[in-house]
Amino acid sequence: MTLAELLPSTGCSIEPVLEEGLWPDGTHLAGSDLVIGGVGATRLAARFGTPCQVLDEATVRNRAKAFLRALPEAEVVFAGKSLPCPEVYRWMASEGLSLDVSSAGELALARAAGFPGQRIVMHGNVKTGEDLKAALQHGVSRIVVDSFDEIAQLGALSRHGQEVMIRVTPGVDARTHAAITTGVEDQKFGFSLASGAALEAILRVVEQPSLRLTGLHCHIGSQVRHVASYEETVRRMVGLIASCGVRVEQLDLGGGFCTPYLAGESSFDLFGFAQRVRGTLNYECALHRVPVPKLLIEPGRSIVANAGVTLYRVCAVKRGVRTFVAVDGGMSDNPRPALYGAKYAVRLVGRGGARKPVTVVGRHCEAGDVLAEDVPLPADVHAGDLLAVPVTGAYHHALASNYNQVGRPPVVAVRDGVARQVVRRETEEDLLRRYV
Ligand SMILES: *Cc1c(COP(=O)(O)O)cnc(C)c1O
Repeated sequence: MTLAELLPSTGCSIEPVLEEGLWPDGTHLAGSDLVIGGVGATRLAARFGTPCQVLDEATVRNRAKAFLRALPEAEVVFAGKSLPCPEVYRWMASEGLSLDVSSAGELALARAAGFPGQRIVMHGNVKTGEDLKAALQHGVSRIVVDSFDEIAQLGALSRHGQEVMIRVTPGVDARTHAAITTGVEDQKFGFSLASGAALEAILRVVEQPSLRLTGLHCHIGSQVRHVASYEETVRRMVGLIASCGVRVEQLDLGGGFCTPYLAGESSFDLFGFAQRVRGTLNYECALHRVPVPKLLIEPGRSIVANAGVTLYRVCAVKRGVRTFVAVDGGMSDNPRPALYGAKYAVRLVGRGGARKPVTVVGRHCEAGDVLAEDVPLPADVHAGDLLAVPVTGAYHHALASNYNQVGRPPVVAVRDGVARQVVRRETEEDLLRRYV
């Protein structure tokens, strides 16, 4: 028993307070344990093992509700790729959101969740014949076409007025990481507005008797901080709508709303976004004398990222020029530091004390398998300690691999003091099943 547990009434926590805005809603310290969704991290690790991806249901639902409240006139479409899991898709359905999928596989999860086809949108710069057939079979309400080849292919496959949107590259630089900047010219997504390809795509879709043009779509990137980038996007997209001479009922602005990963980073200004985008849309449509299209937005990360916390067990500590703290997970459950140089906060659960900067590394056979550099942990950190990493709800389970044949971790949903697995841990049996 620690001093803090013996003397909770003194209110003096040995560990610094929780960073604001990073942890799931309601996360708090009880003694030296970290309580998420009413369940202690120590108990979660003991019951489900480590690494373990904890997901707070209330935070996910709160964020979904916040988007609906900010933009009641819009269709809010959850980007299903950010956290592919039927149970999470069910939460979205029950909150009244729609769902984005980008493959037959994600659509299969949506079907397993019982997600209605009328509220599903399919995306992707490549959709194979199988993806398109699955979308048509399940009655996916809107397919976002991304190339002239696809317009021809879908036109031939579909029968009765399949609704489509056209992915437009508006040429807006969202000023984020190159790997997640998708709105500029000269990258693989969509039809260029500047070159005239977008206008040509609109005419091609209108020519296909089996397709019905419903809307225009764009997505300028991820971790977008500046509302001005979305305003500029609206101006350009309404300009295209006005010049094409075709009725466009829906305008989808995509997702990409930024999320804080480190202490001091600000959250996305959702209400500012709603007001300014609404104002720009109404103004531009009046200016160009076109009807105001229904607005769609596609948040992924901003709904689920801060709902997730990953728990790791420390397996070894090496003290030299730097102190390396090696844990039982790594780039197989979080490749984002290696992919984008993503940075994370790390907290030791269960004990406080004077802190020193360490480098937290994974168990995989690559020197780049680093989870976090220069993070302060108690100087006596040792094997057996439990670490918690916040902001791991988006693109963690989604991007996980089983490199080194390490089974992927479970996703454990917590709510009101109850924990349950919504994705179970990958076992050796799972791994062996694919080998012939
Ligand atoms: C990835 C993606 C999103 C979601 O992006 P976030 O950064 O997670 O909000 C939305 N729309 C499209 C088309 C995407 O590719």
